[in-house]
Amino acid sequence: MYSQMSIGECPECGDELYVFRTKSRKKVVKCVNDDCPKQLAYGVPKSGKMEVTGLK
Ligand SMILES: [Zn+2]
Repeated sequence: MYSQMSIGECPECGDELYVFRTKSRKKVVKCVNDDCPKQLAYGVPKSGKMEVTGLK
């Protein structure tokens, strides 16, 4: 079970961004819009700085 939390709007499509916690304790932010042109996931390290990474 993953806890989900909306944290803001996707810079690409304006839909909601949700935070997912992975098994490796990483926080990943993902757009809820399946039609989002980029489907980016944002890794959120403990330092707080957001890093953009591509997910396949
Ligand atoms: Zn989006």
